[in-house]
Amino acid sequence: MAENVIIIGSGPAGLTAAIYLARANQSPLLFEGFQSGGMPGGQLMTTNVIENFPGFSHGISGAELMEKMKDQAERFGTRFIMEDVEAINTETSPFTVVSMSGQEYETKSLIVATGATAKRLSLDSERDFWGKGISACAVCDGGLPIFRGKELAVMGGGDSACEEAVHLSGFGSKIYLIHRRDELRASKILQKRVMEHPKIEILWNKEVLDFLGDKKLTGLRLKDTKTGEITELAVAGAFEAIGHHPNTAFLQGKLETDDNGYLLTKPGSMMTSVEGIFAAGDVHDPKYRQAVTAAGSGCMAALECERWLCGLYC
Ligand code: FAD
Repeated sequence: MAENVIIIGSGPAGLTAAIYLARANQSPLLFEGFQSGGMPGGQLMTTNVIENFPGFSHGISGAELMEKMKDQAERFGTRFIMEDVEAINTETSPFTVVSMSGQEYETKSLIVATGATAKRLSLDSERDFWGKGISACAVCDGGLPIFRGKELAVMGGGDSACEEAVHLSGFGSKIYLIHRRDELRASKILQKRVMEHPKIEILWNKEVLDFLGDKKLTGLRLKDTKTGEITELAVAGAFEAIGHHPNTAFLQGKLETDDNGYLLTKPGSMMTSVEGIFAAGDVHDPKYRQAVTAAGSGCMAALECERWLCGLYC
């Protein structure tokens, strides 16, 4: 028999959708993911402390927050499968979902909450200092005590990198914006803000060769992309702002996306280009990318999905 609703993804968006749909007696089946789009629990599983999720006045670790969300979804009757979804068929009614073990599931509706993955530099030393000085989110981590009053670096040359540098200037004593080329890709207005900012210095034509430190990050080894010169830069924090890619490869050709692969939804709605399939969280949001916005859109997708299942959607 077909499921009422399958939710793909166990980050804040998917689990919030599950809480709402389980409480609405829709008995959701949730694919937690395995490895293709990050680990079960999503991006927050790599974060030591979250200080901006409402309700936790002294912060909470990412893993603990996700465990609490999962417990809450399970308490109301969500069923979980710890596998990736490899394909969906949107042309059948009900829809078909194929998991990594090859099993097929039928469902009347779907919520896609597969998130996005922050691109990384993929250096060996990156793993040693991830969460100990290296981050992929200045808005999330910039205000942590380890970064306050310290010299910090942002890697990248687009809008996100410039925005992160400006954001960090509220906490750090000096911000280096490290860019591999001799011009930024960011919008002109952001470029101007960065270039005129008294606390921000742009290091042109530099790439990071290595992260340095002992128990936590203390600096970067840089290479000049024009001269080949190697230098070291002392910083207490390094923020990678080299982009994200939404986890939508397995949906290619099935649902409409923008040029960067983010799912498109109908204006003022969480409905994708296919009726009965909804999007929630970072997979359709290149702008805000926060746990609380992902959870909020999970709630919206669930409410719309419930109405759609009851034939009340308009
Ligand atoms: P994700 O959390 O990305 O979850 C996606 C889920 O989908 C995962 O469970 C994954 O396994 C699953 N999945 C992917 N592909 C498939 C597939 N094919 N089949 C099945 N499952 C699949 N935000 C804050 O508000 N505060 C913070 O302090 C904060 N810190 C951060 C620190 C870092 C280092 C990073 C990278 C992000 C941080 N964020 C923070 C942002 C926050 O993590 C994201 O905005 C939020 O997790 C997005 O939630 P989501 O549910 O949309 O997706």
